Amino acid sequence: MRKKICILGSTGSIGTQTLDVIAEHGDLFEAYVLTAGSNADLLIRQAREFRPCCVVIADESKYAYVRDALKEEPVQVYAGADALCQVVRMEPVDVVLTALVGFSGLRPTISAIEAGKAIALANKETLVVAGELITQLCLKHRVPLLPVDSEHSAIFQSLLGEVSPVEKLILTASGGPFRTFTLDQLRCATPAQALRHPNWEMGAKITIDSASMMNKGFEVIEARWLFDVAPERIQVVVHPQSILHSAVQFEDGAVKGQLGAPDMRVPIQFALSYPARLRSSFPRIDWWELRDLTFEKPDPEKFRCLLMAYEAIRLGGNAACIVNAANEVANLAFRQERCGFLQMADVIEQTLRRVPHQDRPSLQDYLDCDRESRAIASECLR
Ligand code: NDP
Ligand code: MG
Repeated sequence: MRKKICILGSTGSIGTQTLDVIAEHGDLFEAYVLTAGSNADLLIRQAREFRPCCVVIADESKYAYVRDALKEEPVQVYAGADALCQVVRMEPVDVVLTALVGFSGLRPTISAIEAGKAIALANKETLVVAGELITQLCLKHRVPLLPVDSEHSAIFQSLLGEVSPVEKLILTASGGPFRTFTLDQLRCATPAQALRHPNWEMGAKITIDSASMMNKGFEVIEARWLFDVAPERIQVVVHPQSILHSAVQFEDGAVKGQLGAPDMRVPIQFALSYPARLRSSFPRIDWWELRDLTFEKPDPEKFRCLLMAYEAIRLGGNAACIVNAANEVANLAFRQERCGFLQMADVIEQTLRRVPHQDRPSLQDYLDCDRESRAIASECLR
């Protein structure tokens, strides 16, 4: 029996790489549901190639276009955000791979967990916003939450077979395109510069988050929830070559890490095939080509977003939801040249100060908090 995969966000960077993995292992995996935000043409091409049971286009204005294009195919077509929450629950679906961007992933992920589907999690913002709620729901519904993010996959792999406590998680960071920039250079950094990531080709939002190191901050929060490790035991280490994908230090001082060429298809495939490993044609490390593996401290003055993530964990409750919402607003504004690079951290900081704190938010509280935080962040931008 092939594993039936629902890909939320099949037209994105993670989504298309997931389809590469499925295509490599057509005997093991089946693309059962594909979804896009608004890229109708790519969704149509994917549907023709992979013949899923159904597709969802979140942008409802494109519904008729997709439906007409696929009328000769045995593919159901749905539209709208609510449809995402329904298709993840389809009885035959075994795994939901969440590759939407930002807060939009939260509701469909919760719906999938409640339906008992295994989650392969790329959409880290879901855990950032509502880590406690999500991990508790997974426990309640006995649903595995498998990391796709390369660092978390590395930690997950390093923990396999271990029974003893962890002393420290070592979360590696490439440092992004601005690792060597001065504060003055950062002040006038442009979106075009920020979108030129040295090691990874990713969607625009996460690429900007990598440049500001908000992404690494989010990954600290993601690790805190995935592995139940206190934030003071999670150390971010800048490693520009992105060969060591992250590591775990145990109480005897031993460190176990996972290394490999930077290629997201490796952690995607492992999340789908776990606990097995499958043969792949992905690039291997060429040990004679590897000259240096270097490690540095992140600079907290240049990358304030990283500190803000630790602050959000310390505050708990809805704090990380506020930070995430403000970051989504600031990140988009930066890409549209309505906000300077360093100003993104200001917007997040001010929003965090202005939105009222809540200790144990419900799902509805998170939805309200996200809306309110976006409104306040937009005000801060003006
Ligand atoms: P992309 O922007 O490349 O893709 C996002 C996907 O989600 C697209 O299919 C997009 O559709 C869809 N989408 C976006 N917004 C909505 C919405 N509001 N409703 C419905 N669908 C939507 O992002 P990435 O693939 O880079 O990232 C996806 C997630 O994975 C993020 O959370 C990111 O942090 C995480 N991640 C990504 C990595 C990477 O290497 N790319 C590495 C580790 C984690 P459309 O194409 O139509 O716009
Ligand atoms: Mg990562």
